[in-house]
Amino acid sequence: MVGKPATHHTRSSNQPDDRIFDPADLERVRRGFVGALSGGILDDAGRHVIDPRRYEFLRDGRDVPDTVNPHLWRHATLNAHHGLFEVCDGIWQVRGYDISNVTFIRGATGWIVVDPLTTMATAKASYELITEHVGHRPVVAVIYTHSHADHFGGVFGVTSQADVDAGRCAIIAPEGFLHEAIGENIIAGPAMARRATYQFGPLLEADPTGHVDCGLGNSVPMGPPGLIAPTIEVTKTGEEMTVDGVRIVFQLTPETEAPAEMNFSFPDFAALCMAENCSHTMHNLVPIRGALVRNALQWSKYINEAIELFAADTQVMFASHNWPRWGVADVAEYLTLQRDLYRWMHDQTMRRANRGLVATEIAEELQLPPEFLAHEHTRGFYGDLVHNAKAVYQRYLSWYDANPANLHKLPPVEAGTRYVELAGGMDRLLAHARERFDSGDYRWVVEVVNHAVFADPTNQAARNLQADALEQLGYQAESSTFRNAYLMGAKELREGPPKLTQGARRARDMIRAMTIEQVFDTIGVRIKSESVGGVRVAVNWTFTDMAGTRDERWILGLSNRALFATQGRHDPHAQVSVTMTRDMLLNIVAQETTFLDEIGKGTVVLDGDAGAMLAIFGNVDEIAAGFAIVEP
Ligand SMILES: [Zn+2]
Repeated sequence: MVGKPATHHTRSSNQPDDRIFDPADLERVRRGFVGALSGGILDDAGRHVIDPRRYEFLRDGRDVPDTVNPHLWRHATLNAHHGLFEVCDGIWQVRGYDISNVTFIRGATGWIVVDPLTTMATAKASYELITEHVGHRPVVAVIYTHSHADHFGGVFGVTSQADVDAGRCAIIAPEGFLHEAIGENIIAGPAMARRATYQFGPLLEADPTGHVDCGLGNSVPMGPPGLIAPTIEVTKTGEEMTVDGVRIVFQLTPETEAPAEMNFSFPDFAALCMAENCSHTMHNLVPIRGALVRNALQWSKYINEAIELFAADTQVMFASHNWPRWGVADVAEYLTLQRDLYRWMHDQTMRRANRGLVATEIAEELQLPPEFLAHEHTRGFYGDLVHNAKAVYQRYLSWYDANPANLHKLPPVEAGTRYVELAGGMDRLLAHARERFDSGDYRWVVEVVNHAVFADPTNQAARNLQADALEQLGYQAESSTFRNAYLMGAKELREGPPKLTQGARRARDMIRAMTIEQVFDTIGVRIKSESVGGVRVAVNWTFTDMAGTRDERWILGLSNRALFATQGRHDPHAQVSVTMTRDMLLNIVAQETTFLDEIGKGTVVLDGDAGAMLAIFGNVDEIAAGFAIVEP
């Protein structure tokens, strides 16, 4: 046990509603089991990428611990099943070695792979597992269902750039895939990466008082993503393709769970892949790591379209996360509930918003109705209704609730100091909070003591009380992402602030796929405004490996402390010209080399005032990682 025990308030909150436990789910996660890995998966350097043995406590049949929400516990025990599974004749899945699933479809000569996981090591181990049990077949096609890294990042574990270049393996993706795959993480990448540690909890101990699940799967693997660009883009719904003798019918679903996503059916197998548009959990309308808010209304409508297109002919439905469902009637009921869930959240949030309720009031008032509570796949093990209601509100009306008292609030330290003073000092504030803790009013405790921690982050009594309250909230949370966030907050309050370090190098293969415009955008959000007052420069760029395209010539400059970039021409008054390859620019951004080194080698040629280059690149902030979240 790494955390504190559950209080009696938490124990009584964690009473399960036994009626909802569908025994069929346990059969579904076991159905077609072929074999499992006996140990963890290591990367080339011998480090553990993922290790299911850490989660043995979810499989030993023990009673539900009182430190885990009983519904989340049950969901976690289902996600903890791992191995190779036969979904139907000709289709296999490897589940439980990554947060996502990889699916293998038998073609005439080889495998069609759907979603090759997050990182090369887990994809490679999955390919080896199916090879061991079903025999070797070459991978002749890879389908990316959508633009999130846990669905393409392991592509080098099942094929190679050489095989793709030689036409031995096709890469099929929805329209706009490449742009979105790179785009989602460009501007806010470092902030999202840090916030994601709260969402997924990879630094928490695997333990009934710590990490138990990630909702969409057991846990996230530790390894960099790779990317091979698609060779075939699916551009319209109804598009049909025969790949290695297998017929596939596609449905594009942009602006749903991901900006570029698609469902598709395999008529010869009576099988339907719902990508990540349907899972065995309520999904996020915005993840707590942060992202652009998703379109719940479109999401629901695309599930409705999938029902119209495919449901009548579907004997088995599988998805990019969790487990499949079998039988025409069962699949139809499942899809209907999923469709209605997203529509209900959208409509009932906006109904209340249009009557003047603000996001926190809507989140408090909305309760999942019995229709959704009765099924585990419509409960919030990943997304949470509290967060999703706010997401819908934010999409249409922004974070601002229209009350001018909230228009220009004091930031946390300034407000915290004043709240402590208002309470009559730190001791009085903490005494009040302790009383509320004893009565189980944990949401109020974390609001009040948060002010204390921001007023004085060195006050260990305040930190410990805040950690204790966050921990009990974590134990009670049905959503794995809420649980992980609460427990991460508790951990950092107890163990001290995280170390602020220089950000990890971005995954090289992801950088390779960036456009020049995207590279310049990432530099723009790192410019130290305070150091570039009065600086006005323009730099002409010639990318020799982009000759003949609009990317051959660029102007990059600073004006009024802001970066600007113009494609397709040069500025006759520019102070300096730079000639290099786009490839070299990407190497420099990946921190594999520097401008200075390359100028020395002659691979980057400057003509004019080198100081103009320095005015931009000498004033770029370091990428930070490990910034504080639960304290100043
Ligand atoms: Zn995913």
